[in-house]
Amino acid sequence: MTLPVNENPRCTFAIISHPDAGKTTMTEKLLWFGRVVREAGMVKSKQGNYAKSDWMEMEKERGISITSSVMSFPYNQRAMHLLDTPGHKDFSEDTYRTLTAVESVLMMIDSAKGVEEQTKKLMEVCRIRDTPIVTFMNKFDRDAMDPFELIDNVEKICSIQCVPMTWPVGSGVDFKGVYDIKTKTIRSFDEGNDPESEKVLDASDLHSAEVLDYIGTELAEKLEEDLEMIQEMMPEFIEEEFLAGIMTPVFFGTALHNFGVKETLDMISTHGPGPAPREVRLSPFDENSDLREVLPNEKKFSGFIFKIQANMDKKHRDRVAFMRVCSGVFERNTKIHHVRTGKDIKIASPLIFQAQDREITEKAYPGDIIGLHDTGKFQIGDTFTNGEKIEFTGIPSFAPEIFRKVLLKDPMKAKQLDKGLQQLSEEGTVQLFRRHTSPEKILGAVGVLQFEVVKHRLEDEYGVRGEYEGYGFVGVRWLKFKNDIQKDKFIEKNSINIVYDNKARPCFAVRSEWDLKLVMEKNEEVEFFTTSDFK
Ligand code: GDP
Repeated sequence: MTLPVNENPRCTFAIISHPDAGKTTMTEKLLWFGRVVREAGMVKSKQGNYAKSDWMEMEKERGISITSSVMSFPYNQRAMHLLDTPGHKDFSEDTYRTLTAVESVLMMIDSAKGVEEQTKKLMEVCRIRDTPIVTFMNKFDRDAMDPFELIDNVEKICSIQCVPMTWPVGSGVDFKGVYDIKTKTIRSFDEGNDPESEKVLDASDLHSAEVLDYIGTELAEKLEEDLEMIQEMMPEFIEEEFLAGIMTPVFFGTALHNFGVKETLDMISTHGPGPAPREVRLSPFDENSDLREVLPNEKKFSGFIFKIQANMDKKHRDRVAFMRVCSGVFERNTKIHHVRTGKDIKIASPLIFQAQDREITEKAYPGDIIGLHDTGKFQIGDTFTNGEKIEFTGIPSFAPEIFRKVLLKDPMKAKQLDKGLQQLSEEGTVQLFRRHTSPEKILGAVGVLQFEVVKHRLEDEYGVRGEYEGYGFVGVRWLKFKNDIQKDKFIEKNSINIVYDNKARPCFAVRSEWDLKLVMEKNEEVEFFTTSDFK
């Protein structure tokens, strides 16, 4: 696969939804319209590399998508990078980090349900960076809420201005397709839903014999009324407001039956922003560092790792670190600087990803996502440059709320356990803390399913079987001190509650909200943070 190299910037976007709203189905269809896969159902099929791992079997069993993956394809003269995110709330940390690597987001809504809990949370994350959002109201082939009601629901819950770009013609068994408001056409597909079989019906005159023949008088009248209402009540699409994350273009349809998918992809590829400037610390790993913006058109290469995925191919026991290129040009076999370790490295086989396939790429440009083979050297948040000592901000860990201790069944396996936990924490599967008062290690997670992944992988990959015991913490707070004297004093006084994260940063482990409130009141000059990336 060759991605276009032209003046058109990359389009890097993520797809988010509450589980079951149709994210996987939409992903398949986007790839299908993008001509990456010939047949829908291939993305997470039984044959691909992904599906081979046991880890993915766990995913299949539970019917949830644990891992985020990247799919790249050319469309509309642009290189599109679609980043999948796990919908299940227990893996939301992974999703949050993926959202740091994109410039826009496609939000899937189940039209019978409106905005659901997980979508609401993810929207809040998008808000942090004012990420532009395209909305897809899915499953119109089933009974759905009234489209005006749905729009109202999104506007109220997500505090965003909706602009319908298409409009559903009927719903459920009466669903006939979607009307494109701008081009005044209705797109339909033959049985078999082959995107190549699309027919575009001129619907500029809703009373024309052709239109009436296809949608019937009743739906034509309803559509006419709705369109009048839209014209009166709804604003026009304004690109600047979309780019500022204030306005979302709304598409209706059914991913399963292709309706509305092409229009959505056209929108993202036409208006989806290219790579944006990104903030870096000028003194890496120093919370008080001065900051600057790295612009995508800077000559010097820079990028950061937002995700590490293990077992993409079980046979090779590999880990792939996903790097987002932010500036300059990345070149295969050319030295790049790994800021955290201070080492210069050459990447011999940088990967780009299609559906299940990966290919070696010679070059990568701002906005591209490339995979680096990782033997355990890389960590989430690592910055790479042409030699400059900077660190990208905004790739946080989030305060875990559930804690566990591993009790080994076989004490001889302590070393493997350490190694396994270290690696799993570097991949972001779980967070690892070490207590100040003892060498004891504690696992922290945002969602309980994360422990199941850890348990499964420790047994499977490291041969370590353990019991998992609850731990009496309910949260952690990262700490910011004014100086070292204050830091040492605080740590000494609160040693029982001090834990260190995997980057050896001190945190306050919370036993109860009350406890935390008291400590904060007593130490007003110390700052407490719920994410590791604070300024
Ligand atoms: P995800 O959990 O968000 O990835 O959702 P999936 O794509 O796995 O979809 C969940 C279920 O809804 C699956 O059974 C899909 O076949 C079904 N589904 C997805 N899109 C549509 C649609 O447009 N219409 C109907 N009727 N079902 C759909």
